[in-house]
Amino acid sequence: MDTTNTTNLYEELSLVPAVKLLTDIDLSDGLAAGSISYAVLVCCSGMGLSLPYVCRDENARILTFQSFGHKCSYSAIAELLANDLVSNLIVYGHSNCEFTRFLQKAREQGSSEEQLLRQWDPSACEEVESGQIWRFFTGDNWLLMNELQVLAELKAVLQYPNVLARAESGKLSLHGWMYHEKIRKLQVYHPGVGRFDWV
Ligand SMILES: [Zn+2]
Repeated sequence: MDTTNTTNLYEELSLVPAVKLLTDIDLSDGLAAGSISYAVLVCCSGMGLSLPYVCRDENARILTFQSFGHKCSYSAIAELLANDLVSNLIVYGHSNCEFTRFLQKAREQGSSEEQLLRQWDPSACEEVESGQIWRFFTGDNWLLMNELQVLAELKAVLQYPNVLARAESGKLSLHGWMYHEKIRKLQVYHPGVGRFDWV
């Protein structure tokens, strides 16, 4: 594991003021009180339709993007985040992600992860690369890989100037969540300490 790079990503995002701690309670309360006007949630389809810890109030303004391995189009999400309506982005990962297993399998077969991913879904590769995932992957720590995937996506959307401008003006906050299936618990990225913490 290249600890230099991974340490950098955890620390790098802790230095971005727009990346903030947000618990599931904060999300529900914020939506109810109106301090969160509109939340965008990006998560993996492997988590199923009933997303744990996400506010289920039918009036809550949450727009969910769900695709296998989080490979949503960054450009489309960035366009949405540049809109004045959206106040919060949550990238929601999970500990038992088949997408990560896919990357592990590629490694075991001796192929480059990128090569196999291109065969599997050519359109996904560019987006995953833009999240700078490849340089972190060693295949020996799925949970770390999943966490890095969440952080890399947060970083990726901040590369878009119109998203960065809204984030820097304080109108957009970004958050990272990680769901642990086996114990059914949630961790959230805590910029103050530069890691995922239990809520
Ligand atoms: Zn998944």
